[in-house]
Amino acid sequence: MSGVCVSQAPRKFRVATVSLAGCFGCHMSLLDIDERLFELIEHIEFDRSPLTDIKQLAQCDIGLIEGGLCNAENVQVLRDFRAHCKTLVAVGACAINGGLPAQRNHLDLATLLRDVYHNRPDFTEPLHASGVVPLAGIMPVGASRPGMSSGSAIPNDPELPLPLNKVRPIHEVVHVDYFLPGCPPSADTFWRFLCELMAGRTLHLDHDSLHYD
Ligand code: SF4
Repeated sequence: MSGVCVSQAPRKFRVATVSLAGCFGCHMSLLDIDERLFELIEHIEFDRSPLTDIKQLAQCDIGLIEGGLCNAENVQVLRDFRAHCKTLVAVGACAINGGLPAQRNHLDLATLLRDVYHNRPDFTEPLHASGVVPLAGIMPVGASRPGMSSGSAIPNDPELPLPLNKVRPIHEVVHVDYFLPGCPPSADTFWRFLCELMAGRTLHLDHDSLHYD
């Protein structure tokens, strides 16, 4: 879809983006608006984002959140975005309902960490408690996890963010103004949504606009 994004705002919208527990696919889809990026940049300027590498948030008009919450750092970053962004948008399935990372929610986190780091699982057997099945042909018979020494400990460096027991959608922690569904939302959906938002309107997506790879 082409089209012209007309904003009457007297200044550029300041936009911040972040990937929490996501795969950056939503960011890739935003960049897929291709040549329309030149027009978009006439109307917006990026604040903190993987696109700018700015680390500290300033006051922003729009915050685009990709990914759900899988650790304490995600929660801290999300709260910072909520505090600095006038309009907060949950972008994609991971931010909206946890998405693919939430598939670990039916597993016990402590058991998983013990199995991976401490129990030196024999890859010829299913990991009993986690239910993870070894991939045939990946590990030789009798081999243990590569790179792990016997009795190795679960990493607990204070620099490492504390994992959450469950992966959570962002609306469980902060108020979210808009939900942009998809995995990822298509480039056209990004484009139409941002244009409508800057024009002070709300985009109503039809079923054909929903995009899940
Ligand atoms: Fe990746 Fe899909 Fe999650 Fe976006 S919604 S971060 S594309 S898995």
